Amino acid sequence: QAKNAGRNTIRFYDPKMQSELEARLILVADLGQALDRQQLLLYFQKQVNAQGHCLGAEVLLRWAHPERGLVSPAQFIPLAEETGAIIPIGLWVIQTACRQLKTWQAHPGLRELTLAVNVSAKQFHQPDFVDQVRRVLLQTAAKPAQLKLELTESVVLEQAEDTIAKMRELKLLGISFSMDDFGTGYSSLQYLKRLPLDQLKIDQGFVRDITTDPNDAAIVQTIIAMTEALGLNVIAEGVETREQQDFLEQRGCHTFQGYFFGRPMPVAQFEADVGK
Ligand code: C2E
Ligand code: MG
Ligand code: MG
Ligand code: MG
Repeated sequence: QAKNAGRNTIRFYDPKMQSELEARLILVADLGQALDRQQLLLYFQKQVNAQGHCLGAEVLLRWAHPERGLVSPAQFIPLAEETGAIIPIGLWVIQTACRQLKTWQAHPGLRELTLAVNVSAKQFHQPDFVDQVRRVLLQTAAKPAQLKLELTESVVLEQAEDTIAKMRELKLLGISFSMDDFGTGYSSLQYLKRLPLDQLKIDQGFVRDITTDPNDAAIVQTIIAMTEALGLNVIAEGVETREQQDFLEQRGCHTFQGYFFGRPMPVAQFEADVGK
């Protein structure tokens, strides 16, 4: 076996690696065509207040692959970032979300909702990202105040100055910002202070054991206190139980997202659920 021949040996044949590589190449090729073949769709997951009233939704991408079925974004977003496919796909997500907002303007039960769209680092740091968003808003006539962009700490980490400048421009249009997966990255409190954010989103990793793990409870309590000090809204994601909701609420978090309130769902189902 080449593997046992020492660390400086080139491994020239490994059937398992070979087949994994082939599977990956096929997926990359498929992903490049997914948009044109209309295999991408958006799911919507409710964001609610303390009374369980729906304030809006997070838009979550799904890939309906002809052989694999619904592929999770956890599997293809990293790949799309590597290949650059995230750029047209990410634009399509913003366009589709804004069209949805426009459509909902005609429906009394839906017209106030906000939509939160995930934006990847590569997408955000394109030189013309702000112009793209501005154009989409003009073309769709969606209200910028109903569009929220979710950034992760990796966006900031890559290019802090560019991030701050772009956020400022987009905020002038009326768009708001949420910091996704908060606490899982390496963002310094220095940056946090300088970013024109509206909301922090407590990562589901801290929420999961919040009622049993004192460390998670302490972290969440600290995040909530920090949002209060910085004048930011706070939302908890991954809320699956009544106990988690109660715990968060007692500590000052009054906005939630998670399976306890609703799974991500196709638009028709979301409308039927919320628009009554
Ligand atoms: P995220 O933005 O942190 O989204 C939250 C994820 O948690 C979603 O997974 C959602 O389905 C899941 N989730 C929601 N509530 C619960 C809960 O109560 N319990 C548990 N265990 N999970 C819950 P999903 O839809 O598989 O998306 C995974 C990630 O893919 C997202 O994490 C986001 O980073 C990325 N993603 C999704 N859509 C897009 C997109 O349009 N563009 C970009 N760039 N990334 C996206
Ligand atoms: Mg998100
Ligand atoms: Mg998240
Ligand atoms: Mg995540």
